[in-house]
Amino acid sequence: MNTLDLTQRQFTSPGQGFWPDATPAQWNDWQWQMRNSVKSLEQLKGKIELTDEEHAGVLLANTKLAMGITPYFFNLIDPFDPDCPIRRQVIPRIEEMTYTPTDLADPCGEDHDMPVPGLVHRYPDRVLFLVTDRCASYCRYCTRSRVVSGVGEQELELDFDRAIAYLQEHTEVRDVLLSGGDALLLSDSRLKNLLSRLRAIEHIEFLRIGSRVPIFLPQRITPELCAMLKEFHPLFISVHVNHPRELTEEVRTALGRLADAGIPLGNQSVLLRGVNDDAAVMKTLVQKLLRCRVRPYYLYQCDLIQGSSHLRTTVAKGIEIMENLRGHTSGYAIPQYVIDGPGGGGKIPINPNYVVAQMPDRIVLRNYKGDIYEYPETAPTPAPENETVTARTPTFLDPILEHEEITSRSWRTGRRD
Ligand code: SF4
Repeated sequence: MNTLDLTQRQFTSPGQGFWPDATPAQWNDWQWQMRNSVKSLEQLKGKIELTDEEHAGVLLANTKLAMGITPYFFNLIDPFDPDCPIRRQVIPRIEEMTYTPTDLADPCGEDHDMPVPGLVHRYPDRVLFLVTDRCASYCRYCTRSRVVSGVGEQELELDFDRAIAYLQEHTEVRDVLLSGGDALLLSDSRLKNLLSRLRAIEHIEFLRIGSRVPIFLPQRITPELCAMLKEFHPLFISVHVNHPRELTEEVRTALGRLADAGIPLGNQSVLLRGVNDDAAVMKTLVQKLLRCRVRPYYLYQCDLIQGSSHLRTTVAKGIEIMENLRGHTSGYAIPQYVIDGPGGGGKIPINPNYVVAQMPDRIVLRNYKGDIYEYPETAPTPAPENETVTARTPTFLDPILEHEEITSRSWRTGRRD
């Protein structure tokens, strides 16, 4: 369990840490960061003392999901704390080689819904467009670990021409989400070319990019990139932050640049054991996101990714966290907790149950403090004469309260006697 350090509320800079010899120009160059990513056991030596589980995990990582950590993000790791929540996200562990019977190679069933390479078309009006298999750093719980990083069993096939041709033909598609891998790793000119081709398709109304680059590699969010992205509105970006320590001075500046370019920002977090499965940590995270002008969007129950059981936590824990957010902080700070239906069910919202009972004439609710309230149902409009009326069967979600238990005082004050 994480203990919340008050300093996590603040925006600090990890600085150059283990790379004191890099010039400021090198350090602030995103391509230098990528070239100097930590990818091997050799590079970890002298920086952090690995546990036995991590040591074995690093040795095997290149058979499944490569290790890759930008120097900037690496400096956020506490080298003396094996339970560091940043470390758990990016340093491989031997547990990744343990598959449970419910683990899935393609937990969201994306491969079944790919009409052309790299394009997932599952929902009527929107598509997921995978544009690269590379990320700035690799998350050990990645839903697409089968195809990202270039070392897994499966290769991500890409064919932009076929994908664009498909989108031109499918006039029902109005929303395109670019992801991967990470679309913000494409060069400015390549990304601009792709966005221009998408914008040239009249029925595509809305573009989105899902990216962890502003978090792993804030140096990539240059004024030039933001000026280019601004040409393609409406364009939204969903970032991916799991722990308040990931929100540094550098990240706040990068997110501020995107927001100043008029890009609405949302955040998608994954609920991870030992990282953010703690109500206080999550509350600090969502409040800090708002200070960066990012609206918490989704909190995902971790998908059933092969070798991720050591990072998964219970759905009950997720509901408990949501219970500790709703009513306890601004509504803008509350993400929607979802489970992606295993095998391709899409996002299914999960909420604490605030409906105590539902009856034909009223609904009985509880608020975040547990106080009980009743809301009267609107009486059905009387049917015109001579028209047959079909009675509707009332639904009873949880009829634990009998009418007599709700006193007239509870109706007025919301308090149960
Ligand atoms: S950034 Fe996204 S796609 Fe890349 S490894 Fe992390 S979760 Fe996977």
